[in-house]
Amino acid sequence: MSAPDLLRIPLLGRFLRWRYSRFVLQLPLLLIALLALYDGFFGRQLAPKNFATVSVWLHYRGFLVLAIAVFGNLFCAACPMLLVRGPTRFVKRFLPQFRWPRRLRNKYFVIVLTIFYLFAYEYWDLWASPWLTAWLIIGYFGAAFLVDALFPEGTFCKYVCPLGNFNFTLSTVSPTQITARDPQVCLSCEGKYCVNGRVETEGGRKTAREADPSEGVHYPGCETRLYVPQIQTNMDCTLCMNCLRACPYDNVALKLRFPGLEWLKARYRLDVVWLGVLLFFAGFMNALGMVPAYYQIAEDLSRLLGTRNEAILLIVIYALWIGLGGGITLLVTTLADRLSGVRQSPWKAVRYWGAGFFPLAFAMWAGHYAFHFLTGWATIVPVTQQALSNLGLPMGDPDWTLAALVPENWLYPLQVVILYIGLLAASYVLFGRARQRDHFLAGGVVFVYFFLLVALALWVLAQPMEMRGTLLLPPGSR
Ligand code: SF4
Ligand code: SF4
Repeated sequence: MSAPDLLRIPLLGRFLRWRYSRFVLQLPLLLIALLALYDGFFGRQLAPKNFATVSVWLHYRGFLVLAIAVFGNLFCAACPMLLVRGPTRFVKRFLPQFRWPRRLRNKYFVIVLTIFYLFAYEYWDLWASPWLTAWLIIGYFGAAFLVDALFPEGTFCKYVCPLGNFNFTLSTVSPTQITARDPQVCLSCEGKYCVNGRVETEGGRKTAREADPSEGVHYPGCETRLYVPQIQTNMDCTLCMNCLRACPYDNVALKLRFPGLEWLKARYRLDVVWLGVLLFFAGFMNALGMVPAYYQIAEDLSRLLGTRNEAILLIVIYALWIGLGGGITLLVTTLADRLSGVRQSPWKAVRYWGAGFFPLAFAMWAGHYAFHFLTGWATIVPVTQQALSNLGLPMGDPDWTLAALVPENWLYPLQVVILYIGLLAASYVLFGRARQRDHFLAGGVVFVYFFLLVALALWVLAQPMEMRGTLLLPPGSR
């Protein structure tokens, strides 16, 4: 029996086919971004009482992982930054157009940007500053505008945006995926419109390459250049639904799936696997940066290097941790292959076994975000009241005592469950891949490595953690 296609659900399917459906999804996030900008610049500069910091650092991130886990990459689908598209189409007429350099058509540039973003988050304490958070939003919109104005559409999402690529990587966990309803129809499809776009003119149907979009009704194709019948993974899919509208044969489906199959079958590129590895270690580092052990490490390092310059210490800690994480991963996966008698290059070993990092990275971030989201979730009510009353709307008195969604003593057990589910999913990938090659010893070696990483992550999450963005004290610190 074939998997259910969500586009067959009458109202949902109709809504997603509608050409303005994405705009309808983007509008609420645009309004939220505007309110965050206003409160970030003009509201009270106290993080737990400002809409910019609470919405961006608590709620946006919490809802993002939740949406990815239960549906898919909804936040890319609703990304308000792509509303710069209207203005960029206009300014494109006056600006030179470039092709994104071939050497950068991979995830390495995004990996570098992500590391810089994480460094900036810690160094400038972005989570604690409404003003800087507002500047970050402006910077993000500005970068999207600039890249979209100078390069082909889709370049920003696929090669530049750290947030989008974070979503892409984590959405390998999602229970839905774009796919072709009937691959046979695609074989005889003359225009491959899902990727090339479609223009319906009086002279007939053409691809967006053959005809100027202004000649008729234009349905853009996939901006990140995914070809529907070949899609094996959610990587690079923004759920924009362009393919659905561009396909004249109604042959695009959004099917429910078992995510583990993607990790088992997809042949991820090396850069994509490194992005997954980075996100796991970065998630770990992000959590570590909020516990006392981190300050002890920084103190020891400061004595060793003879400097109290925070930037230098942060760079060294990040370089060591992420470099060490990448290096050990390379070593362990290569060793695992050698023990099984496989003599392939270390890069191929990481590529093969590294798929197990996708569920681990998701679990690491989900566990960490769950902590912040659940401890401070209700603060969105008073901060929204406050921000709207600053705009002159009658909102009543904010109740600043609103805070946690679940009792404090539930948080750690919940994080343990999330991390164990991540480890379970990772073992499914490892032993599934081991079975494909009959290399159970290799799978076992990588599993031990993953087990130790999860144990270490659980130890970090068990420490008293800074309650960033809330008015509460860390559990265990009272
Ligand atoms: S999904 Fe539609 S447009 Fe794309 S190749 Fe198949 S039939 Fe053609
Ligand atoms: S057009 Fe591309 S990015 Fe958009 S939903 Fe289809 S496959 Fe995903």
